[in-house]
This record gives sequence, C-alpha cells and structure tokens, in this order.
Amino acid sequence: MNKESSINYEQILLKDPLFTEYILNDVDRMELLNLLFYADDKDAYNNLKIIDSYCTICKKHTTFNSEDSSQIDQQELSDLLMSAGMYSGFPGDERKITLIEELEKKCIFIRKFNCPRKPNDSAHSQIFVFRVIGTTMIKIGQHPTLADLSKEGLKKYRKLNDEIYSELNRAVGLSTHGIGIGSFVYLRRIIEKHIVYPAIKELVADGKLTNEQISKSDFKEKIKLAKDKLPAFLVENGKIYSVLSKGIHELDEDECKGYFPILRTAIEIVLDEQIDKKERAKKNKLISDQLNKIN
Ligand SMILES: [Zn+2]
Repeated sequence: MNKESSINYEQILLKDPLFTEYILNDVDRMELLNLLFYADDKDAYNNLKIIDSYCTICKKHTTFNSEDSSQIDQQELSDLLMSAGMYSGFPGDERKITLIEELEKKCIFIRKFNCPRKPNDSAHSQIFVFRVIGTTMIKIGQHPTLADLSKEGLKKYRKLNDEIYSELNRAVGLSTHGIGIGSFVYLRRIIEKHIVYPAIKELVADGKLTNEQISKSDFKEKIKLAKDKLPAFLVENGKIYSVLSKGIHELDEDECKGYFPILRTAIEIVLDEQIDKKERAKKNKLISDQLNKIN
C-alpha cells in the first residue's frame, strides 16, 4: 500500500478558499475521519479538538473548541472506523467498499467550533462544511468567511490610506472565494497606483525626474528610476510586479490562486515598510519640533 499523506487541518479550515478540491485516495484515513467528525469521548475521533482563529463577534483571537458531530451516531462512527481499517467485499460482487465510498454515501460533513467566551451562542461559532463526491472532498462552506477572518489583520493598512485597505481587502476577498486573476488585479493596483506612481510624482515635482524619462520607461524601469523613494523590498524583488503582471496576462486561474498567498505576503511587507517610514517621519518631526522649542 502507498504511504498515506498527512492532512494539514489548519490549511484546509483556515487558509484554503471555498471549493478547494482534495483528492482522497492517498490521504491518511484516520486524519480524514478526524477532519470530518468529532466525538469528544472517542479517542479515535477527537484529534481535531481546537482551532486558533479570530472571533468576529468578540473581536479577539481565541482558541475555539469543537462541538461533537451531530449528524452521526456512535454505531456509524464505529462502522466508519472499520471501513478505514479494512476492505470488505460484497458477496457475489468483486467490488470493494472503501472508506471513501462510505463517506460519499454520507455526502455532507459539518464541523462546528465554539468560542470559549460564549460557548452556547452560535453567533460566535466557526462552521465548516465539506462534501465528498467520488474520491474528491470539496470545501463547500465556511462561516465567518475567510475574508472576515483576515480583515482584522488588514486594518492596520488604513494608516496608509483607506483605498489601500479596501483594495487589499477586495484582493483577499476575491481570493478566498477562489477567484485568482481578479485578485491579482487589485494587488497590482496597490503597487502601481499607491506605491510607485506617488513616488514618481514626487520625484518629478522635485525636479529629479522628467516627464520624458517617465514616458519612455516601462513599469520595471520606473521602479528603478524611483528606487530611492520606494520600499526596499519592492525594489529588491522585481518579481513581485512581474508575477502580478504575468498573472493578469498569461497565468491561468489555478496558477494565480496558487501564487496569491506569497504575493499577498510580499505586498504586506512592502506596505509594512511604508507604514514604518511614515511613522518614523512623524516621530522625527515631533521630536525635532520639541527640540526646537528648547532655548
Ligand atoms: Zn466570541
């Protein structure tokens, strides 16, 4: 038998967008059962007991506790465990019934995790829904949405401006709904409209660049021309812009979806650098104003 591959619960529940498909043939069967079912009093079914997430009602990061799976009884769980461990044949039929076929019959799986601050208030709960078709599992539902969960981390970009925040939010929102190329458009806008063009405008206003130089250069060259005014991470990693650009013109949906997390993080690093710069300038001005007041 082939070696069974391990399941990354956190990735599936809290990172992968809706409608991500997982081929079940080679996954670790016990881990799969633990993703789909939870029974606190059964050792075989209580591996995925907690998740660390953000409660959108409490507005706090917290550790959520799993509720017992309600759509299955003890006997059914034991039967599944049997299926996970062995194949059983139909008499007169060579067909083998596997665990995956049992799961396909059950079709829909719901996991519910409760907020420890309000365990009996469902409004605080995080809910995940999966469907099994053939040998594929699909994440078909999640609430609160991944976009709601990641909004909190994006709020700090309001310090730069509301437009950056809302465009980054939109990029993340599209990506969490499985839209790859569309999410790239917003990431590219952030780099072009909010980072590079303002820097170029300043350089032209200061007489350090001419409009002619600008109009002759493509975007990559513009980044070079404005390098002293731009976040170092962007200048050092020209790939950020070239992949975004390639994504819009050449990559397919799945490639864009696959590259989104790394590009999003790269852009957050660029934006973090902008925030640091802005805050440093503010602090420097404050202190130098105070120094000037000393006689
Ligand atoms: Zn809560």
